[in-house]
Amino acid sequence: AGLSRPMRDWLSHRVAATPDRQALILASSGESLTFRELDALVRETAGQLAALGIESGDHLGVILEPGIQYVRLIHAATRLGAVLVPLSERLTATEVERNVDIADVTTLICGEETEAVAVEATSDVPVASVDEPRWEGVVNLSSIAPKSITPAGWGLSETMLLLFTSGTTGTPKAVRLSMGNLLANAVASAFRLGLSPDDRWMVTLSLHHMGGIGPILRSPLYGTTVVLREEFAAGGAADDIGKYDVTGVSLVPTMLTRMLDSRGTLSDSLRVVLLGGAPASDDLIERCRNYSVPVYPTYGMTETASQIATATPREAFDAIGTVGRPLYFADLTVVDDAGAPVEPGTVGEIVVSGPTVTTGYYQNPEANAESFTDRGLRTGDIGYRDEDGLLYVLNRRDDRIVTGGENVDPGEVVEVLRQYPAIDDAGVLGISDPEWGERVSALVVPADPDASLDETSLESFCREHLAGYKIPRLVETADELPRTVSGTIDRDAVRERLEAARPVDVAEP
Ligand code: ATP
Ligand code: MG
Repeated sequence: AGLSRPMRDWLSHRVAATPDRQALILASSGESLTFRELDALVRETAGQLAALGIESGDHLGVILEPGIQYVRLIHAATRLGAVLVPLSERLTATEVERNVDIADVTTLICGEETEAVAVEATSDVPVASVDEPRWEGVVNLSSIAPKSITPAGWGLSETMLLLFTSGTTGTPKAVRLSMGNLLANAVASAFRLGLSPDDRWMVTLSLHHMGGIGPILRSPLYGTTVVLREEFAAGGAADDIGKYDVTGVSLVPTMLTRMLDSRGTLSDSLRVVLLGGAPASDDLIERCRNYSVPVYPTYGMTETASQIATATPREAFDAIGTVGRPLYFADLTVVDDAGAPVEPGTVGEIVVSGPTVTTGYYQNPEANAESFTDRGLRTGDIGYRDEDGLLYVLNRRDDRIVTGGENVDPGEVVEVLRQYPAIDDAGVLGISDPEWGERVSALVVPADPDASLDETSLESFCREHLAGYKIPRLVETADELPRTVSGTIDRDAVRERLEAARPVDVAEP
């Protein structure tokens, strides 16, 4: 009661304020819903979940393709006071089983496309489907008569979401995000990006990441519209921005590159292109400048409920490569190996704290002990701030290559390789080597897939731009770089490719 339970789910507050504003547009059909209409659907879903036995505090797993049913479940879980646990719809049964176990999922909701995996993954967790079930024992959620429910009250410190990290550096971890984390993130994001009642945010990122689910959660708080594009296809997504007068969109660099490749520029209805999740190349930022794309490069992670630092287009164009300043509320420090803050211009690990930062990984004392210090959360990311306070993210702590006792920043090598005309993109990492500790190794995507790389010319180009010990000793080509679902380079897959490759000596150290 009282202050300890200060609010209900944001949709139930919104429907009292502006019921007739547009809440959701489904890009595929053009169908649109007002907040009142969405609220009625959410009430039905929440009532059905309640009839299924879900109550406040339960962990509701969702493995589902993006769509209206997913949006209903997101708000319905919050209405019931349940903790939502979104799982990637691309996971295998083994991975789902592991995540269900890590996050203590009490009930798993699936759909037609994910039912097989959900059923295979769970033996002791009940499964319900939003579509007509095909397996015995799976409950048809849509056919249940809804119970009448009272919206749950939320304390700021209560966990609303358990969200898995991408697993770039190991097994994905379940991050606790509270009502307070999400509220602080929504406020800080609006301060940096601005907010207009006519905003329409296109969601085309997966809903099991903050970048996708974030705008859906924030829409009722802001009273703005979500345009849900169920499937990402570069050309189609770019066209829908114009078709639906979209004003904002979150993208990872590979998506934006493909959209620009296919359509040249993006509709001038856009006022924000929030670009993050992985490093954006200088080339991509320059394209945005040349084509007047209002890009806001951002740095964030699941643990900070997405953005923790975001650059405005002006900052991005004036200081290419920056992710800008920390958001309102956020404290961000760059520290040395001993954990002490460093001077501007000095590279170190980024440590963050503030109300958007998670209070911890769910039931993972080892990761918590390793990640939390007095100063805040150790991000595992390496970067620096310049004299003006602008942040630059270089790479991850674990990615630093040590060769012959020298530290090599793979990001720097990637930038040089990308500048080489015959190379489009590159992934760089250290392959262990008996003599050097590690050898700098590169998987590159040639600009012309049919031409072979001229190794001598590449080597002399590298020599011009890099100290000798930084030059890749092993260079392999690929049609494209393996990536995780969030667009980061899948380093394990790159490593496998390089280790399997017959070493090509580009240069002797
Ligand atoms: P895991 O924590 O399981 O290894 P992950 O860190 O990839 O996976 P996410 O939380 O989805 O999982 O991604 C956050 C990470 O993405 C950041 O810590 C950072 O390494 C990277 N990242 C995000 N934005 C940027 C950016 N603008 N530039 C460089 N790296 C970024
Ligand atoms: Mg991480």
